Amino acid sequence: MSDASDNLFLKLLAEKPYLMADGAMGTNLFARGLQSGDAPELWNLDHPDRVESVHQEFVDAGADIILTNSFGGNSFRLKLHQAQDRAYELSKAAAERARAVADKAGRPVVVAGSIGPSGELFVPVGPVTHEEGVEAFAEQAQGLVDGGADILWVETMSSREEAAAAVEGAARAGRPVVSTMTFDTAGKTMMGLSPEDAYTSLRALPVRPAAIGANCGLGATENVLSIVQMHGVVDPDAVIVAKANCGVPEFKDGQFRYTGTPELMADYARLARDAGARIVGGCCGTDGTVLKAIRQALDSHEPGQVPTLEAIVEKLGPLAGVTDRPAHVHAGGAGESGDGDDGGRRRRRRRA
Ligand SMILES: [Zn+2]
Repeated sequence: MSDASDNLFLKLLAEKPYLMADGAMGTNLFARGLQSGDAPELWNLDHPDRVESVHQEFVDAGADIILTNSFGGNSFRLKLHQAQDRAYELSKAAAERARAVADKAGRPVVVAGSIGPSGELFVPVGPVTHEEGVEAFAEQAQGLVDGGADILWVETMSSREEAAAAVEGAARAGRPVVSTMTFDTAGKTMMGLSPEDAYTSLRALPVRPAAIGANCGLGATENVLSIVQMHGVVDPDAVIVAKANCGVPEFKDGQFRYTGTPELMADYARLARDAGARIVGGCCGTDGTVLKAIRQALDSHEPGQVPTLEAIVEKLGPLAGVTDRPAHVHAGGAGESGDGDDGGRRRRRRRA
């Protein structure tokens, strides 16, 4: 097992100017038959071949980092499926699926244990205490590391308090932790954090994340913009992560579809690098074809100046619109169906 000094992720970061992360687990499981309301994490045991085929698609596209199918694998979230006692088991299985694919890739591929939000509100706005959060995320992280994860990847966070608990809990498993937040509500997280605030509060945590960034949210335009905003406050040695949705999610025929093309996401990847990201991938809507285009763009691009809003809009399209509530829910966690109805449920539950 690795420790901090020989961790594969840290080693690759030291060797390479940039790394490519993968695409969307949720979207690609739906394409393989996952139904609205199913817990994707159960597929790590029930349909290991399908989970591995998503990982394989991303490895074939050139991913340096693959995220495990465990986004909703914390005990809070698994309650929706009466599986709250299985967080360790399902997370371990998730990491084993990814590890199996990474180990036969023929090149170093980092397995990142995905940790998504609990779906609960934390003190001071809700009932969940910091320590309760830390315990739940630590349980999940231990399963992920025992299944072979090289690092823990805390993603799609909205709340400063929950992100702090998740990073602390993840760090208990003794591996580097990456943390990204989602800026889907008028340029801030649903809980009101700007990209600058998110960066500075994550950076100030007792266990400092090895990389910080933005994932999911609205479109690629918004994602690059949030990276540009972070750029204004980042430390020179910061490792910034950009993982945008494949264009803008549109609700059609009962599910979200994404407006992005491989060409658009190639432009996105170049702009994300210009904005200062060292790790670039795709979030919801990103499949192997899109990821391959991102790989080619990264490999043939010499980063230039930090782009202006005008330059970003010219390449990636207009901002999706100023909205005071999230238009979309990151698909791929327990209870996340990826459709509009689920988004409504989640918001209602959050308010409750
Ligand atoms: Zn997403």
